[in-house]
Amino acid sequence: MHSLTDVQDKLLREYRRFVQSEIEPHVNVWDQEGRVPREVITSMADQGFMGALIPAEYGGSKLNMIEFGLLNEAIGYGCSSIRSVLTVHSMVSQAVTRWGTQEQRAAWLPRLARGEWIGAFALSEAGAGSDVAQIGTVATADGDDYVLDGVKRWITYGQGADVFLVFARSKGRYSAFVVERDTPGLTVSPIDGMLGTRASMIAELRFENCRVPRSALLGRAGFGLAPVASAALDIGRYSVGWGSIGLAQSCLELSLGHARERRAFGVPILDHQLVQRLVTDMATGVSAARLLGLQAGELVQAGDSKAVAAVWMAKYFASTTAMRSASDTVQIFGAHGCDPAGSPQRLFRDAKVMEIIEGSTQIQQTMIARLIPSGES
Ligand SMILES: Cc1cc2nc3c(=O)[nH]c(=O)nc-3n(C[C@H](O)[C@H](O)[C@H](O)COP(=O)(O)OP(=O)(O)OC[C@H]3O[C@@H](n4cnc5c(N)ncnc54)[C@H](O)[C@@H]3O)c2cc1C
Repeated sequence: MHSLTDVQDKLLREYRRFVQSEIEPHVNVWDQEGRVPREVITSMADQGFMGALIPAEYGGSKLNMIEFGLLNEAIGYGCSSIRSVLTVHSMVSQAVTRWGTQEQRAAWLPRLARGEWIGAFALSEAGAGSDVAQIGTVATADGDDYVLDGVKRWITYGQGADVFLVFARSKGRYSAFVVERDTPGLTVSPIDGMLGTRASMIAELRFENCRVPRSALLGRAGFGLAPVASAALDIGRYSVGWGSIGLAQSCLELSLGHARERRAFGVPILDHQLVQRLVTDMATGVSAARLLGLQAGELVQAGDSKAVAAVWMAKYFASTTAMRSASDTVQIFGAHGCDPAGSPQRLFRDAKVMEIIEGSTQIQQTMIARLIPSGES
């Protein structure tokens, strides 16, 4: 796999058309207002995007992994906040598809596929980020129920989601629960003004004596972090990697357009070699990131044991490329790049988030070395 096939290229253009009409014209306003309208997520569901990883028998569109990657690239090109919503919803959908019982799949997946339910992923807490084993939320078994107590923080689309995949500690082990938003004992508080992905409607979730039935348990008791959370995070990492490619592509196009138009010292700034270098590095980075994304997609699709390392590499490279590209885009735009109403500063803030979520840059720098299968270099 070296480049997109004609079919994949056509699909990417199709996704891009949706983004151009439904997302791009509004993205900076949504960023400033700190919210995305539910209608745009409903339109994405109508296109089958919210059911991207859900099997057809439950109403999903079950894309293959390359198609899912291209969808994330296109949405990430337009708006990282909406791509973040797609990411967490896809993580929840994938977890239910993979670990749900027959009854749970039948009850939840059609709603998730239709976008009637938007899912959010609730793992992190103030005291537990990279080191997820430190989570303090507790699930206590009580008769036919579990009672949840604790506080989840930085939950993407927490302000709008209908259902949460919540991870809690139970007798020293970890379990996963699907909790509906209107469950008594759950309070959702907005966290506004985040540095980046500002429109992704992040929230804090407070569980106080929050009682859920045993049927809310996803997967076996005690299997919450591995395998449920780790498999969902693999999908999240893949999605954020491709979203970062889209973000970097957006930087490249904006930079090229501006560098061809803006004149300094009698010539377009693109004629200055130091500006050419910035654009060259950006273009090369985007191409390389896309190749790593395609490689990861092929391996995940094939169920290859090398897929996990390939996804980590793809996300690591794409997110750092996005950050560098966004920083250079602000540089190429100069003061215009710092304009609060413009795209460069939004891309710059959003790109920083890509280096923190789904495995920070430093965690990737240490993990990839450990994940490389023996015999490979
Ligand atoms: C915009 C945004 C949206 C988010 N959405 C969600 C969500 O929907 N659901 C959810 O559960 N969480 C979410 N998070 C939380 C996110 O998952 C965590 O921020 C992430 O896991 C990192 O954890 P932390 O922020 O606690 O940083 P820490 O883990 O405290 O790390 C702080 C710093 O230390 C470094 N570090 C940590 N450990 C090591 C190590 N072993 N070696 C080297 N360096 C290390 C990190 O790289 C980082 O630079 C979101 C965060 C943000 C910013």
